[in-house]
Amino acid sequence: MLAAMAFVMGYHAWFLFRCMRAGGLHVTFGGRFTAWWLAVISGVFTLRWLHLVFLPQDGSHLFAPNWVQSAYATSYALVLLMITVGFALMASERVRETFEHQATHDTLTGVLNRRAVLDALAQELARSQRYQRPFAVLMLDLDHFKAVNDRHGHQVGDLVLQQFARRVAATLRPNDVLGRFGGEEFVVILPETDEASALATAERVLHAVRPPAAGLPVVSTSIGLTHWQAHDPSVDVLIERSDRALYAAKSRGRDRIEVIT
Ligand code: GH3
Ligand code: MG
Ligand code: MG
Repeated sequence: MLAAMAFVMGYHAWFLFRCMRAGGLHVTFGGRFTAWWLAVISGVFTLRWLHLVFLPQDGSHLFAPNWVQSAYATSYALVLLMITVGFALMASERVRETFEHQATHDTLTGVLNRRAVLDALAQELARSQRYQRPFAVLMLDLDHFKAVNDRHGHQVGDLVLQQFARRVAATLRPNDVLGRFGGEEFVVILPETDEASALATAERVLHAVRPPAAGLPVVSTSIGLTHWQAHDPSVDVLIERSDRALYAAKSRGRDRIEVIT
């Protein structure tokens, strides 16, 4: 009986560890709650085992009619109930995280969606206004992308967009933010970045998207770059300026960067 219950608890602990590892070892309230009750049951098991080994006595069977065994049986039942509650909590946390991810990420490329990138930009603007720290915004738009779809089909177009997002993301630092603004247009936010470093990053991005990839047509991008100015009143102003810079890059031949400060 004890061995069977130890096996069940061991299995729970292993399952819990797997769930946590799948979540990048990010521990939720449900995970902590379940782990705590697993620790409690381990303690009760150990106590009962010590009791059996060092204080053998009549009536040590789990169903023996005495208060010690009743206390053990009650604590097993209670802990099993709590572990079930813990697993239900973990499942609902997982569902909520999935919905949150879907609400803030683009399904095709996996980067932030338009709303989330605008939220990130608003946060960065507020932070810069408060601490007077520089940041830059890049607006990217793939060149002649309609021709890619027309020549190779929409599915290949989708693969190009995925590859593009992967390549751009790979050139950025962990704190930089990449989002899909719509269609074949992307936004990058570069926190804590002065003008020279922002231009260097934009150049890295421009080069990173060019190399041919197996089975995919070669593409290029135009980039509009702008910097936060202390008098910028809103996110709209930054978007409008980077959009104007992008338009200038398009009209000056594409596959290039234009800066408007
Ligand atoms: P430009 O260099 O001036 O930006 O030219 P362009 O052809 O890239 O620009 P245009 O705005 O004319 O075309 C954008 C194309 O992007 C048209 C649209 O069908 C395509 N597109 C937008 N979203 C998606 C998508 O999710 N998947 C695919 N495959 N194509 C998309
Ligand atoms: Mg385009
Ligand atoms: Mg476009």
